[in-house]
Amino acid sequence: MLLIESVVEMMEQKKRVYLDYAASTPVDERVFQAMLPYFAQIFGNSSSVHFFGQSTEAAIERARKIIAKLINAESAEIIFTSGGTESDNLAIKGVAFARRKNDGCNHLLISPVEHPAVLQTARQLSELFGFELEYIPVDSFGRVSPSEVASRLRRNTALVSVIYANNEIGTINDIASIGHLCRMNGVPFHTDAVQAAAHLPIDVVRENVDLLSIGSHKFYGPKGVGALYVRQGVNVIPIITGGAHESNLRAGTHNTPYIVGLAEAFQLTQTELIQRNARLVPLRDMLIAGVLEKISGAQLTGHPVERLPNHASFVFEGVEGNTLLAMLDVAGFACSSGSACKSGTPKPSEVLLAIGLPPAMAMGSLRVTLGVDTRMDDIESFLSVLPSLVEKCRKLK
Ligand SMILES: *Cc1c(COP(=O)(O)O)cnc(C)c1O
Repeated sequence: MLLIESVVEMMEQKKRVYLDYAASTPVDERVFQAMLPYFAQIFGNSSSVHFFGQSTEAAIERARKIIAKLINAESAEIIFTSGGTESDNLAIKGVAFARRKNDGCNHLLISPVEHPAVLQTARQLSELFGFELEYIPVDSFGRVSPSEVASRLRRNTALVSVIYANNEIGTINDIASIGHLCRMNGVPFHTDAVQAAAHLPIDVVRENVDLLSIGSHKFYGPKGVGALYVRQGVNVIPIITGGAHESNLRAGTHNTPYIVGLAEAFQLTQTELIQRNARLVPLRDMLIAGVLEKISGAQLTGHPVERLPNHASFVFEGVEGNTLLAMLDVAGFACSSGSACKSGTPKPSEVLLAIGLPPAMAMGSLRVTLGVDTRMDDIESFLSVLPSLVEKCRKLK
């Protein structure tokens, strides 16, 4: 209690501007309210036969139906997980293991700009489980070209995974075309839509995807809950084994309040998408234009047009990204950089290296992501302090 109070007090002392919505978002008040009855009132174990279990199960099935409808899927195709990371793990490991067992397929194709939840999972499959991992090259915007996928598909390709919209540089991929190619070749296709789901309409039929990951805390839902869409007929071996929950694909008693929160948040997000984006895009564009105009040696990373509506990301020549982040924090602005390393020797981001940036340039990255509480004057005040902080960083080097 003391700690929370002191944090709240510190937040109130100084005006702080949160510009890191790609890292996480606050829970929408409507979502919070929807979750509340499922802690102490409707608390049964969804596997129980009695009334208490039935009430919980009904809530979970309602949530499943809501999510399925929003992405043009069937209820039976939605598997609840503990978040985006677990969804990615279940998709990659689950399909890889099933494809090897059933079809003898051993080859994995992923892009080099995947979130670590995909990248590290595929690497583990290669290092410990004998899968052959191949990377699909990306262009300087971080986009995967369908022809690069086509030329790498093999008879023994177990799975293709390409991120829908990139968390670091905001670039949106042509998922429908890549999915079409995979479908024509009979290779299961997974996409990590954890960032995309917060800002883009999702349609698993139109986009030809077989597996799709979402995570609730990127769209104003609670942390620690997500879902994986698994197209009917796609074989997946469970990673978390135990009871028969989630069509035998994910064991463990359901986290009912969080599943309810996930569905509520996803529904609100997808319903309010057009209005939210209409407000965010001009703010994002003002931010990007302002940074490029005011700061010499600044470069936008990611695609200029095919990018998330709330996402701005840059590299600055002669700047150490973590130093800039720390200075911004002191000035009251919460942003992020590409180098995920919080302490120790920072390494340049793999994503920025994959798009061809020299390591020294990749070290000077900054990600600014906007959300429902971002106002025009937040961007104005951010633009008024950033140039001098970048200058200060350059002098330190
Ligand atoms: C946040 C994120 C994840 C991980 O999701 P968690 O719910 O935090 O585990 C995976 N992929 C992308 C693209 C993300 O942005």
